[in-house]
Amino acid sequence: MSTIANQLPIAEVKARVCKAIEENMPRLMEIAERIMAAPELGYKEQKTSAVVQEVFKELQIPFTTGHALTGVKGRLKGKDSKYTVAMIGELDAILCPKHPRADELTGAAHCCGHNVQIANLIAVALGLQAPGVMDNLNGDVVLFAVPAEEYVEIDYRNKLREEGKIRYLGGKQELIYEGAFDDIDMAMQMHVNPATTPTGEMGLGSTSNGFIGKLIDYHGKAAHAAGAPHEGINALQACMMGIMGVNAIRDTFKEADYFRFHPIINSGGDLVNVVPDYVSMESYVRAATVDAMVDGNFKVNRALKAGADALGATCEIHDLPGYLPMRNDAVMNRFLKENSIPLFGEDNVFQGEHITASTDMGDVSHLIPVIHPWVGCIKGVLHGADYEIVNHDVAFTKTAQALAMTIVDLLYGEAKGADEVKAGYKAVFTKEEYLQFMDRIAEGK
Ligand SMILES: [Zn+2]
Repeated sequence: MSTIANQLPIAEVKARVCKAIEENMPRLMEIAERIMAAPELGYKEQKTSAVVQEVFKELQIPFTTGHALTGVKGRLKGKDSKYTVAMIGELDAILCPKHPRADELTGAAHCCGHNVQIANLIAVALGLQAPGVMDNLNGDVVLFAVPAEEYVEIDYRNKLREEGKIRYLGGKQELIYEGAFDDIDMAMQMHVNPATTPTGEMGLGSTSNGFIGKLIDYHGKAAHAAGAPHEGINALQACMMGIMGVNAIRDTFKEADYFRFHPIINSGGDLVNVVPDYVSMESYVRAATVDAMVDGNFKVNRALKAGADALGATCEIHDLPGYLPMRNDAVMNRFLKENSIPLFGEDNVFQGEHITASTDMGDVSHLIPVIHPWVGCIKGVLHGADYEIVNHDVAFTKTAQALAMTIVDLLYGEAKGADEVKAGYKAVFTKEEYLQFMDRIAEGK
């Protein structure tokens, strides 16, 4: 079979992709609803994973399972395999017991819209399966349903670590470690966001903060709080001095680094008339670059320990590798923008600003080019009890059309789009360097 005979103009390829996605909108909404009805937290997404596997079987997409416990990886073959582009959807829900659709037993709910991501993953698959499309692409498309984006249930995940079932707490981190990204050249995913206009909008992803997780324990000496405070060492005062120390150096962090330190005290003493001999605190240190994260974390640890020194207490700090800052690829973003304007209208496509929260897609972005647009289609608060999709067109059709057409731009013909992305991208880490960095954080170095 001659590939030249099969050659379609790129506009025709895109038109076929868009038509297939639009025609399948009811089916896509039904898939999102099935997942909404059975929300599961990270590394526990067995039912959600089964839904993806069932749909892949229906669509005759070959796939492998068990990636980072629950991940499902499908593949559509192009006419040649010059590159592999991944479309990612996240499987996990969050904890939000007050959401009307929350699971009564676990409190999990899909109020971060990851079920919409899975629908978009399937939508892209359906679009690319339209007749003649993959025959015109010089590369494969991996359809990757991935676990555990939300960094929650740390104790549960640490138990999985101790049992040897996972090595890292974040799903994409674990997938990188397992080698599931080794055969992927570039990747994309969407994320829902509150809509600011009735028509909804495409916010092209920018940068976001990364973070280091911190467990901090202060140890002092118990004594009667009124009768013999001179015999005690107050761990709560030491902890407060530590927090004040961090507050004292806040203005030494550069504005451009978007430094964040937001601790909570989990245990602040047991009995009011006993000098607290143990206080435990938890926090993240967040910043916009790896260097700023590491530097900020060093200074925070110094201040926290100084709080203990002031009182004669001790301070134990256990750092956990969190997520790396996010870097959206400019060339891929340009393709996404061009494809989004006809669908959303020029006024509703914009370049997003820096986000001070974090995602494990940031880790992937340090190894390969990625895009992570924020798509305005919900009302209420992300992670909130009032979260609700209001713009179904944007959530289930337009976003997937824009992303699928971007894949066409990357891989069509001789895959010159993907060539351009590769040429402009500079990885921050190799996989080996990345894993070494993660281990260094965990070892407190
Ligand atoms: Zn999310």
